[in-house]
Amino acid sequence: MVIVVSGPGGVGKGTIAELLVEKHNDLWLSRSWTSRAPRKGENEDSYVFVSAEMFKEAIDGDSFLEWAEFHGNFYGTPWPVAPDGHDVLLEIDVQGALSVQAHGIDFLMVFIDAPTKEDQAERLRGRGDGEDEVHRRIAEGERERKVASGLGAVFVTNDNLGNAVDEISAIISAYRRK
Ligand code: 5GP
Repeated sequence: MVIVVSGPGGVGKGTIAELLVEKHNDLWLSRSWTSRAPRKGENEDSYVFVSAEMFKEAIDGDSFLEWAEFHGNFYGTPWPVAPDGHDVLLEIDVQGALSVQAHGIDFLMVFIDAPTKEDQAERLRGRGDGEDEVHRRIAEGERERKVASGLGAVFVTNDNLGNAVDEISAIISAYRRK
């Protein structure tokens, strides 16, 4: 089974995805590739950081289940190779989710939102995004919410990290029982 965690920048979805795999040892988090430079203080395991050239070579070599260009950088999901008995967790944008759907793969889509736009803006500023980037990501969020609705996403507000993780855990368990 595949679970897609998505949401606008600055809602904490990366942290949530990491906490979910810590909590569920039968969940396997796919590590994406990106041509974006690491942010200051960013965990070096957040992505496989590569040059745009290397990324393009990987596209040509059909290395990705899906990839997207986002704000001038490439992001891609390598073909998942989860260990036996593990479900796959993808933390990707809505464009990526549409590509996964186009492959005919069924997935549970969870869209994480910040409690308010101001919270989201504060988080983005806190990680070093400039004002232009903050505005762009917030505007992008509106479009992403619409696409996520179309994909039948379950919406979760990250007003408290522990609660959001518990809520998503319950959603995953219910989906597994279906
Ligand atoms: P950031 O630069 O903030 O780490 O990520 C920017 C956006 O790219 C986020 O919405 C994130 O979910 C998305 N993203 C990260 N990895 C992938 C991926 O492998 N594929 C796609 N389509 N989007 C990704």
